[in-house]
Amino acid sequence: MKRILFGSDVWARGSVHSHLFRLSSEIIVNCKRKIYKIMYKIAYVTLLIIFVISCNQKKYTIMKEDKKVTNVEKVEKSNSEWKSILTDEQYHIMIEKGTERAFTGKYWDVFEKGTYKCAACGFALFDSETKFDAHCGWPSFYDSIDSTRITTDDDYKLGYKRIEIMCSRCGAHLGHVFPDGPKPTGQRYCVNSVSIKLDTLSEKPNRD
Ligand SMILES: [Zn+2]
Repeated sequence: MKRILFGSDVWARGSVHSHLFRLSSEIIVNCKRKIYKIMYKIAYVTLLIIFVISCNQKKYTIMKEDKKVTNVEKVEKSNSEWKSILTDEQYHIMIEKGTERAFTGKYWDVFEKGTYKCAACGFALFDSETKFDAHCGWPSFYDSIDSTRITTDDDYKLGYKRIEIMCSRCGAHLGHVFPDGPKPTGQRYCVNSVSIKLDTLSEKPNRD
């Protein structure tokens, strides 16, 4: 049997419908607001990450450009020639780009005055005045004698980016440079003792 709807019934149903409609509209608006907020947060974090990465890239680029090589007379030798000149350990570290064990090298704990030269070609690389104790087990310097004496290259051997340092005259591997050194440069040239030789007698070469 069909129920006859009175005015109050119709009004009540209409009111319930409009209430439900209002409620669902509010839920949709709230959801939209939450989604927008999350999207803003994601966009903000993404921009922040891009900014940090680009800053790091810039730092590395500046570091690399600063080490441009000019007017350095090159020493070029074949691997077999280097093998006959260098010790097995020097050949492994300087030519095959190995690393000596921390706290085992000759110079990590030496603070005598003098000039540290490339062990392969004798090119003056670091002044003892820039040597500091980095507590890392390798001789560490906050600067090279001048920017022409060291060349750099990107090294991903450990799965992340490091900056390799080499003698700019003969190309021998020295170690790596990290942006966590002391003032005034903020750089830490972390060098294998095997790759350098301390000359306590030589005069200090002029900086550029
Ligand atoms: Zn050299």
